[in-house]
Amino acid sequence: MYLPDFDYYAPESVSEALDLLTEHKENAKVICGGTDLLPKMKHELLAPKVLISIKKLPNIKKIEYVKGKGISIGAAATHNEIVFSEVVNSKYPSICNAAAQMAANQVRHVGTIGGNIVSAVPSADLPPILIALGATAKIAGPGKERVIPLEDVFTGPQQNCLEANELLTEIFIPDGDMTCSTYHKFALRRAGALAVVGVAVALQTKGCADGACSIEDARIVYGAVAPTPMRGVKAEAVVKGKMATDDVFEEAGKVAYSECKPISDFRASEEYRRNLVGVYTKRCLKRAIENGHK
Ligand SMILES: Cc1cc2nc3c(=O)[nH]c(=O)nc-3n(C[C@H](O)[C@H](O)[C@H](O)COP(=O)(O)OP(=O)(O)OC[C@H]3O[C@@H](n4cnc5c(N)ncnc54)[C@H](O)[C@@H]3O)c2cc1C
Repeated sequence: MYLPDFDYYAPESVSEALDLLTEHKENAKVICGGTDLLPKMKHELLAPKVLISIKKLPNIKKIEYVKGKGISIGAAATHNEIVFSEVVNSKYPSICNAAAQMAANQVRHVGTIGGNIVSAVPSADLPPILIALGATAKIAGPGKERVIPLEDVFTGPQQNCLEANELLTEIFIPDGDMTCSTYHKFALRRAGALAVVGVAVALQTKGCADGACSIEDARIVYGAVAPTPMRGVKAEAVVKGKMATDDVFEEAGKVAYSECKPISDFRASEEYRRNLVGVYTKRCLKRAIENGHK
């Protein structure tokens, strides 16, 4: 398996990168870590004539907390940079935990949050927890920049809303009241395996001092069980405004089982995935509360 020939550019500004994308149109591909793109090229699924690396763009790897606003993560931040980021660990350890569940160390060392999102693989691990936490995506295009809810980036399996001459530059996770969150995936191996099912939960709770708390708001997102990351709106409705009890979590799990839209493939049957979504939703609701009140 050899890579086909291509021209390689490493622009040092966003405008230079956008000019290159505009000039080469569908012949060009952005490359960041290359962990998705290069295997596809080696397997002759893609043969771009031009690769445009974004690693030299200013601030593209920057992770910072903007006081009173939230955390901004540059699109080229690697999974390991997120896993070990003090800022992300202090504000949203569930994002670090999701990144740590991905692939193996070698892939986490070069694979990036931006590549994980733009690839739009339904089983990708970061989108569910980022969507649950209300993240937005900053997309730069020629002469314009737009900020959209992250969930709107995904339009289908391996399909996204970016134009051929646009770049994802930043993910922003706003400060908010969703202080209890978690992501868990089920995969067929402990490392280096894609999610058969992933579930992310973010909750706003009230009054937990004596161990009993109520759930004021909830966002639940399922991964790998629909063409795009899927909000579990019916399961969210079950828990919103209720006390956090095992019975409520059990009920939410049953609703999650029914509302997800999995397919059968070589990794698991539809029914098996539904059962996993039910169990993981129940489990994640409980763990999110535990995480938030450590
Ligand atoms: C062995 C192995 C195990 C893996 N395990 C997992 C796993 O457990 N969980 C998981 O979710 N993924 C997994 N992956 C998939 C992959 O590693 C991740 O999706 C990774 O985050 C992709 O990032 P990258 O920087 O390598 O993307 P690249 O390969 O560089 O790019 C991927 C795609 O996104 C585009 N792109 C990249 N960045 C941008 C940007 N900023 N703006 C516009 N377009 C952009 C590229 O043009 C390309 O189409 C695995 C991959 C391998 C090889």
